[in-house]
Amino acid sequence: MILDTDFIIIGSIIIILLTPLYIYRKKVYNFFTRQGDFETFEENIKNYLHTYYPKIEFDYSIIQKTKMEKDAKLRQILVIEDLVSQFFDFEYELETQKCIHKDFLWSTYEQNCKPIKEKLPNDWSKRKEFTYRRDNCKCKRCGLNIELIDAQIILIRPLANGGGYNFENLITLCSDCNKILNSQIKSIKSSLIEDALLTKTTVK
Ligand SMILES: [Zn+2]
Repeated sequence: MILDTDFIIIGSIIIILLTPLYIYRKKVYNFFTRQGDFETFEENIKNYLHTYYPKIEFDYSIIQKTKMEKDAKLRQILVIEDLVSQFFDFEYELETQKCIHKDFLWSTYEQNCKPIKEKLPNDWSKRKEFTYRRDNCKCKRCGLNIELIDAQIILIRPLANGGGYNFENLITLCSDCNKILNSQIKSIKSSLIEDALLTKTTVK
C-alpha cells in the first residue's frame, strides 16, 4: 500500500502539533482548570472555617475583590491572609460565665478560689476540667471543638485586678485564641506604657 503525500504531510503536522501538547500536558491541564481549582478552594475554605470556627462570621468579600487576579495561587494567598487577619481581629466578648451547681463542688473549692502567692490551686486540674465541660469542650472565642489536653483555661479578671480561681472567672480558649488574646493584651499594655510616658513628659 502506497501512502498519499497529502496524508503523510497532514499526519506529520498533527503529530508535530500534538507533541508539545503531550509534553506540556500538565501545564495545559492547570491552565484550563485554574478557575475550577479556585472554586474548589473557596468551597473548601468556607466549609473549613464554618466547621472549625462556627462562632466567627467571616467576611468573604475578599474573593470578589481579588477577582481580577489571574494567578490562582496568589489569589488564594490573598484570601487566606485576609481571613487570618479577620480571625485575629475578631472582637471577643466576655460573657458572664455560668457557675457550677453547688452540689458538684468539693469541700476545698471555696478556700482555693483565692490566690495564694500566684501559685495555681492544688485542685487546678479539677477546675480546668469542670470549666472545659461547662464550656461544652469548645473555645469560647472562636467556637472550635478542642480536646481537654489542648484547652487553655484563662482568668477573665486577672489575679492582679482582684480575680480568683472561681468558675465564674474561668473561661476555655483554644491555643490560637489564647495567643491572640495575650498578644492583644501585650499591645494594649505597651500602648498604655507609651501613654504613661507621654503624660510624664508633659507634666514635667
Ligand atoms: Zn479559639
